[in-house]
Amino acid sequence: MATYSHSQLSTYEECPLKYKLCYRDGVKRDTESIEAFVGNMVHETLKKCYDDAKFSRLTSLEELLAYYDDLWRRRWHDSIVIVKKDLGQEHYQTLGQKMLSSYYRRHAPFDEDITIGTEMMIKFNLDDGDRYQIKGFIDRLSKNSDGTLHINDYKTSSYLPDQADIDNDRQLALYQMGVQKKWPDAKKIKLVWHYLAFDHELVSQRTDDALAELRTRTIHLIDDIESAEEFPPKESALCDWCEYPDLCPLRKHYYTVENLPTNEFLNEPGVALVNRFAELKEKAEETTD
Ligand code: SF4
Repeated sequence: MATYSHSQLSTYEECPLKYKLCYRDGVKRDTESIEAFVGNMVHETLKKCYDDAKFSRLTSLEELLAYYDDLWRRRWHDSIVIVKKDLGQEHYQTLGQKMLSSYYRRHAPFDEDITIGTEMMIKFNLDDGDRYQIKGFIDRLSKNSDGTLHINDYKTSSYLPDQADIDNDRQLALYQMGVQKKWPDAKKIKLVWHYLAFDHELVSQRTDDALAELRTRTIHLIDDIESAEEFPPKESALCDWCEYPDLCPLRKHYYTVENLPTNEFLNEPGVALVNRFAELKEKAEETTD
């Protein structure tokens, strides 16, 4: 029986070739995008904040930011990739500090609910057998005063979805199925996204029918993945963050050219042609001035 995570399923939907390289062939890469690095540092810092609060210890904002900066220094490595070349490491570190500060101001002293767990692993079967297993990590599961369970997820992305987007989001709805299996007497469950860069929270609730429909859709997707014989590349805006451009027929050329020494880069036929075209265009414009 294979176990699937939401990000595994999303990778297949985004690009089947990337899915194959990563999950079927197990091609390992040590690169990490700066966006993923910031996300990890912020998640770990918020985990510490709530783990401390669980034991009635209120961490001050200064302590929390010092923890984050220390984590950042210790975990920084040479294989972190910054795609947006005009932005440096400091920019991203400051971004994380700002997200943590606004979250802290909104939620301190962190006693609005009871934390059941942080970075909680959830693993459950989608079907009655054990053919379709889902695994994931809940950033924070909490219970408020009327017994409602909240599945909290921290997002550090620079994109703020709208209500319709999150009402269709798969990840937390899958986690809800797992939580319901674990705590069948839970009266009410809310899915809560904390979009930290916007200091904004979005909430969604799912009916039993919506969950049943999602269950069927996810099972079909897993069937598609398991029976797939071809894994075509699917180009999108996400390609700039892909770890496998050297193994991708759609990006290989671009990758090879980009990694040539300057002399060879300028002599590469495709690049030379583009440069020659630019020269001729410039001359033509001069003569018509
Ligand atoms: S570069 Fe783009 S198309 Fe190629 S494998 Fe990666 S995500 Fe897929």
